[in-house]
Amino acid sequence: MVKKVLKFGGTSVGTIERIQHVAKIVKKEHDSGNQIIVVVSAMAGKTNELIKFSKVVSLNFDERELDVLLSSGEQVTCALLAGALIEQKINAKSFLNWQLPILTEGEHNNSRIVNMNTEKVNNFLKNGVAIIPGFQGISKNGDITTIGRGGSDATAVAVAKLFNTDSCEIYTDVDGVYSSDPNKIPVAKKINKISYDEMLELSSLGAKVMQSPAVQTAMMYNIPLEVKSTFTNRTGTKIFDQQNIDYSKSVTGVAYSKDDAKITLTGVADKPGVAANIFEPLNKSQINVDMVIQNISSDEKTTDITFTIKRDDLLKTIKILKENSNISYKNISHNDKVAKISIVGAGMVSTPGVTYKMFRGLADEKINILAISTSEIKLSVIIEEENTLNAVKKLHTIFELD
Ligand code: ADP
Ligand code: ASP
Ligand code: MG
Repeated sequence: MVKKVLKFGGTSVGTIERIQHVAKIVKKEHDSGNQIIVVVSAMAGKTNELIKFSKVVSLNFDERELDVLLSSGEQVTCALLAGALIEQKINAKSFLNWQLPILTEGEHNNSRIVNMNTEKVNNFLKNGVAIIPGFQGISKNGDITTIGRGGSDATAVAVAKLFNTDSCEIYTDVDGVYSSDPNKIPVAKKINKISYDEMLELSSLGAKVMQSPAVQTAMMYNIPLEVKSTFTNRTGTKIFDQQNIDYSKSVTGVAYSKDDAKITLTGVADKPGVAANIFEPLNKSQINVDMVIQNISSDEKTTDITFTIKRDDLLKTIKILKENSNISYKNISHNDKVAKISIVGAGMVSTPGVTYKMFRGLADEKINILAISTSEIKLSVIIEEENTLNAVKKLHTIFELD
């Protein structure tokens, strides 16, 4: 007998018919003699709709109440799926965040799961299917919390870890992880196996098929994942330890995101301590700076500094830079119509010329690079947002991923 976590994302449970279809998949797994814990997302669009409602009520909606509101989406799906399974004569039961409980730590809207009581569910699994809401938990004060957008993936991985399951299957609306978003780049190819490191880079650089904190936890505890389709029977993508991966390709995938903004300060004094003065107040306000470029000064007295931050932090950052008397510069400009394009591949480590090939490809498309950052297995550039798909397609082709 095998114990499995099956996680179904928003599109997979997006309509009543789809929930009934999911019930059939779960029944089949249960009838094969497996012990099944199901983790569900809210129906597609539900969480966004609830966020919109909160904004109508107040642009400063109380964070505790926002978590109460947002967690309701997953609870609806739990009950509907349990009902659909009971209708098919399967003993199914939902276990809500406070009923387990799923314990979390951290701030509202952005907590993380630290523990779950496994006893009740383990007892129930002996003759039934347990259904757990993704994306949420309960703090030690007894408040409902949510764990960040796309967080049902993280719930599934936490369940796999804490219940010590034999597998963790992420059912979604595509049949695996592709070399780029298959809904935007139709020539993208499915990747059969991918390492945790590569998946972590891809997901944190924009491939939302897996939520990056979920991949991080899976990597930390060596929990193999499988991403597969709710709607076809094709084999999915296995995500696991990199020792088992074939490195014949330098680049495994191309990801993009439109979450960043770029700020340039010109006429900054070219002397020690100036960069620290700029970034210290940003750090204190928990503004994450991603890429930084400092030009060589032409007059040896002043220089320009360009850096990128999350687009959501743009106004706050500009306010800090304008109001802080320790920071001096001549001019400040910003651009929030930029995109970050990244190539990712464990094979990059051993392949020379990848950087040149990427820059040449973008130059051939007349795409200007505004900032660059690298790590061992990824290379990211910031470009104008309007060039996004053109750049992704070009890189996809030149790295032979089509
Ligand atoms: P779920 O609701 O099941 O969690 P998501 O919408 O969060 O599903 O993630 C699935 C989507 O991720 C796909 O529909 C696809 O458009 C997108 N995606 C982005 N990059 C990739 C990629 N490299 N491979 C597969 N899907 C990707
Ligand atoms: N419903 C939540 C969201 O839309 C969590 C999830 O779907 O994973 O972000
Ligand atoms: Mg998702």
